[in-house]
Amino acid sequence: MKQFLNFINGEFVATGKTYENRNPANNAVVGMVHEAGQAEVDAAVDAAHTALKGDWGRMSVVKRTELLHAVADEINRRFDDFLAAELADTGKPRSLASHIDIPRGAANFKVFADIVKNVPTESFQMTTPDGGTAISYGLRTPLGVVGVICPWNLPLLLMTWKVGPALACGNTVIVKPSEETPATATLLGEVMNAVGIPKGVYQVLHGFGPGSAGEFITKHPGVNGITFTGETRTGEAIMAAAAKGVRPVSFELGGKNAGIVFADADFDKAVAGIMRSAFENCGQVCLGTERVYVQRPIFNEFVAALKAKAEALKIGGPDTPGVGLGPLISAAHKAKVLGYYTLAKAEGATVVTGGGVPVMEGEYAGGHFVQPTIWTGLPESASVIREEIFGPCCHIAPFDTEEEAVALANATDYGLATSVWTQDLGRAHRMAAAIEVGLCWINSWFLRDLRTAFGGAKASGIGREGGVHSLEFYTELRNVMVKL
Ligand code: NAD
Repeated sequence: MKQFLNFINGEFVATGKTYENRNPANNAVVGMVHEAGQAEVDAAVDAAHTALKGDWGRMSVVKRTELLHAVADEINRRFDDFLAAELADTGKPRSLASHIDIPRGAANFKVFADIVKNVPTESFQMTTPDGGTAISYGLRTPLGVVGVICPWNLPLLLMTWKVGPALACGNTVIVKPSEETPATATLLGEVMNAVGIPKGVYQVLHGFGPGSAGEFITKHPGVNGITFTGETRTGEAIMAAAAKGVRPVSFELGGKNAGIVFADADFDKAVAGIMRSAFENCGQVCLGTERVYVQRPIFNEFVAALKAKAEALKIGGPDTPGVGLGPLISAAHKAKVLGYYTLAKAEGATVVTGGGVPVMEGEYAGGHFVQPTIWTGLPESASVIREEIFGPCCHIAPFDTEEEAVALANATDYGLATSVWTQDLGRAHRMAAAIEVGLCWINSWFLRDLRTAFGGAKASGIGREGGVHSLEFYTELRNVMVKL
């Protein structure tokens, strides 16, 4: 049986306290995960500080960034191993993981290495009261030991999105992958050793949140900052932990994103875009669209077109030919999503399509599959319109005016992302300015330039990562003032 070990100070460490890791596509046991306790967390924090004072802390930026390029190259060399690990953990379609999760996961190391090498800091010259001159310049120093707490939906991609810039800035990291997806973070430990990243720089601790590795890492006074992607309510718990010692946090949290389709939109492109944003990765994308608003003249036509496409989605495991919809991550998450399917009906939804569980035969009969689901007819107060479901489902409602669309989009505690579909240029820019989100897509969705800011407004996050914005969190900016 495969064992997923912790990676502490350059070595793989068993704890003997294990839990099962299951493949959501067939519910088969992939292996046993070794849960880290307080002793492992203490050891990792010690090793991380030792590395900061040692070779890693003294390493030139050029050497450090060369090593990070080597990490990316080694992930790509072992592409098939990473892909197999991610597929076994998530059950997602092979085509998706091989185009997004693994290549973008590797790219995160190169992009941030290059940014750190090339981005200047500020400098000013001024006249002093005595008529002399002084110059100031900014000096970026690492934040220190960074706790990286990760979700399960895009395991390697979202983890390296944080580990890449953290290491590029000279920090050390302690990663806690989701309990659902331990594999690629563990495999990355092998990569780090293979390319010569010093021990203690990248470490992995497995376990859960409360009373386990997640809580122990975030409460540890030796952890200098915490970067977290996950649910908003978990963010609240981590923020409380980080308050002790006034340690900084960077949060990428939940969303309840609106997709807005105007009657003047390119109809086919809008349908295809909303289709992806509602159902890609089985709806388990923080940026996904669970609230769709369509301008009244095209409402019926749009609902019919999305229904046809949703019903044409092939449901299956990673290697089902033509698969478009994989399983949910776990039995527990399936129960949560099906709970919302039941609630939608109870609250009076018209079920346009789906609403249940598909019949799966053969290899994938035990997988955590649900039907892609579309609702209409609910008031804005309904649970499935207010709460993040994180499944392959959306509610579609009509609207009449631009002002109404803005009000509907903003009537949520969340503020992560939106996509607006229109061919009216002025309207597109007005919408982008009016919708309260961190990310606004016009006639597109999930199109990313890694140099740009990423993050959420309102309850969807704190801070921005991506490009130079990552440097704000992963470094301390010191001002040096020199009297000449
Ligand atoms: P989650 O909050 O349940 O878990 C995320 C991680 O936090 C896991 O590793 C978990 O073990 C850990 N954790 C849980 N409780 C903790 C605690 N008290 N202290 C420390 N660690 C703790 O989230 P999830 O279910 O893994 O992921 C889905 C959620 O993530 C959704 O809400 C989704 O919107 C959000 N998400 C946001 C973004 C973004 O960029 N904004 C990206 C992906 C996912």
